Amino acid sequence: MAMSSDNRRILWVRAGGRCTLCKSYLLHGELTGFEVPVGEGAHIVGQAQAERSPRGMSELPLDRRDTPENVLLACANCHNEIDKAKVAEVVTAQMLQERKAAHEAEIRHQTGLTADRRTTVLRMFGAIRGAMMRVDATDAATAVLQSSDRFPLFPASYDQQGLELDLCRIPGEESPTNGYYASAARIIDTFVGGRVADGVEQGHLTHLSVFAIARLPLLVYLGWSLDDGIDTDVYQRHRSTGKWQWPTAEDITTFTVEATVAGAADAAEAVLITNLSGTTTPPQLPEAFLGLPAFTVTPTGQQSHEDVIAHPASVVEFRTAVRRFFSELEASRPSVATLHVFGALPVSAAVSLGQTLKARDLRPKVVLYDLTPTGYQHALEI
Ligand SMILES: [Zn+2]
Repeated sequence: MAMSSDNRRILWVRAGGRCTLCKSYLLHGELTGFEVPVGEGAHIVGQAQAERSPRGMSELPLDRRDTPENVLLACANCHNEIDKAKVAEVVTAQMLQERKAAHEAEIRHQTGLTADRRTTVLRMFGAIRGAMMRVDATDAATAVLQSSDRFPLFPASYDQQGLELDLCRIPGEESPTNGYYASAARIIDTFVGGRVADGVEQGHLTHLSVFAIARLPLLVYLGWSLDDGIDTDVYQRHRSTGKWQWPTAEDITTFTVEATVAGAADAAEAVLITNLSGTTTPPQLPEAFLGLPAFTVTPTGQQSHEDVIAHPASVVEFRTAVRRFFSELEASRPSVATLHVFGALPVSAAVSLGQTLKARDLRPKVVLYDLTPTGYQHALEI
């Protein structure tokens, strides 16, 4: 008796075309390099109830021996070896059964989690106005599963927590000075240059899902720090739902950049005001910036508000608007070497702004300001 062709197909699919024992690829002819199936069905309990049949002396009924349950896929070498009388004495049916179960489970797992559908969750959180913010790993996983077709990964090498960047312990957040932002930036640098870069190098970090709550300049800085070669999704907590998953069936917001103060034609500095989740007008800026050429980004045809970005496509629109603004600025005002950035942005836009700045190769220099209880505070330069 031999295995039916249906059962043979079941065996090959379960084993993923790999030898259960040595894992060699079973469609590669060693002599010719031809693509030929070189795998064999190896019986765990021997085909016959006889001493000469390896592991054949068993209670397993003969009619259940030619089944995918009692046969493992193996290369000719491994098959030959486990069937030698001397080997069959020590390599028991139970051992082979365990190897087979582990191999088939692993194949099913691996082929279900193909690289392009995995994502590594990166959570960054810090204090905001004295309140310690956190992003729960479970909330992040739920958001990825509900808002994308990816599987969230929290690799064991990161303590099962994924990438966690905690900025809560940095003192001085409630009335932040330059020192506060500099400390936070150093922590972000170390983290991104260490754990994130290691993950990319080792090949297990191929896509990032970023969840962040922190003061605005730090969100921009995080986006700017990330390797622009890694495909990244940015999530934010939505005011309307209190959740991190994107609300369904929301309109897509587009953005408009307008010149709001003309300033001198050959100015070396200019101002960008981002009025997405709040509104700053040029007179509210620190005095030193009042005469500079100023540009304002607003959602097209609507007021600024907290949930202005409620669809991932709106983030793409924001990035497009920012890229276009920089191109036009370079073309129309080549004298501008420093751009001062004020305003209020949702998390996804803030991180995306940083990513866009990185892709632009730092021209002009960008200075980020933060709205604090005492007014706008110089935070970071990138
Ligand atoms: Zn083998």
